[in-house]
Amino acid sequence: MKETFLGIPADAITLPEAVEWARGWLADGRSGGFIASVNPEICVAAQADHKLRSCLLAAALGIPDGIGIVLVSRLRGGRLRGRVAGIELLLALCALAAAEGKSVFFFGAAAGVAEAAAEAATKRYPGLRLAGTQHGFIGPQEEAEAAAKIAASGADLVFVGLGSPRQEYFVAGHGAATGAKLLMAVGGSFDVLAGKVRRAPRLFRRLGLEWLYRFVRQPWRLRRLPALPRFLVQALIKKN
Ligand code: UDP
Repeated sequence: MKETFLGIPADAITLPEAVEWARGWLADGRSGGFIASVNPEICVAAQADHKLRSCLLAAALGIPDGIGIVLVSRLRGGRLRGRVAGIELLLALCALAAAEGKSVFFFGAAAGVAEAAAEAATKRYPGLRLAGTQHGFIGPQEEAEAAAKIAASGADLVFVGLGSPRQEYFVAGHGAATGAKLLMAVGGSFDVLAGKVRRAPRLFRRLGLEWLYRFVRQPWRLRRLPALPRFLVQALIKKN
C-alpha cells in the first residue's frame, strides 16, 4: 500500500515487511529493482527536479525514512505508523543476503569507507558474500565504468551511497547495466557503518529526533533545514 507525499510514493511498510518484500523480489528473479529512501527533503527537492521525481516514481519500494513522513501520514489519517531507517534496512538486507547466499556490493562514500563499511557488515553477518566495493568520488563520466565493475562482480544487491540526488540518478541511468537484482539508495550509511559518523543515541531515535542530532553534529546540514517546514505545510495542505 503506497501513500504519496508531494506526489512521491512511500510504502506503508515496517522493517520486517520490507525484508520480506526483498526476499520475495529476490526469489522472483527480477532485476533492477530500486529501493528508494523517502524523506521530507527528497520530496521537496523532487518538486523542482523532474529527473529525481521520475527516479522516485519508478522505485519498486519507497521506505518511509523520515519522521516528517510518518508525522504527516498520522495527521492525515494515513497508514504509516513508523519510520524505516535506511541504515537498518541496509543491515537487515545484509542479514538476508548472508542467509540466502546472495552477494552484496557497496558503492559510494570516500576512499576506504565502503571497504570499512563492508568489512563491518561481513563481521556482523558471517557468511555474507561481498561482491566488491567502489568509492563514490568519481566523475559522472566514470559511472558507466562503475556499473560495469558491479556487473562483472555478479552482485545481487547493490547499496548506493552517493548522496541525493546523485545516487538516484545513478540507479536510473546505470542501474540496469549493473545486472543487480536490487539497488538501494543508502545516503551516508557507509560513513556510519565504517565508524566515521555516529548515529544519534537511542533516546533521540525513539523520540523521533535523529534529524535534530544530525543538524547539531553536522551543522553544514542546516542549509537543508528549510525543506522541513515547507514539507510539513505543503504535504498537509495538498493532502497527497
Ligand atoms: N558522496 C559520494 N560521492 C560524492 C558525494 C558524496 O560518495 O560525490 C558520499 C559521501 O561521502 C557520503 C554520502 O555520499 O557518504 C552522502 O551522505 P549524506 O550524509 O549527505 O546523505 P544522507 O544520509 O543525508 O542522504
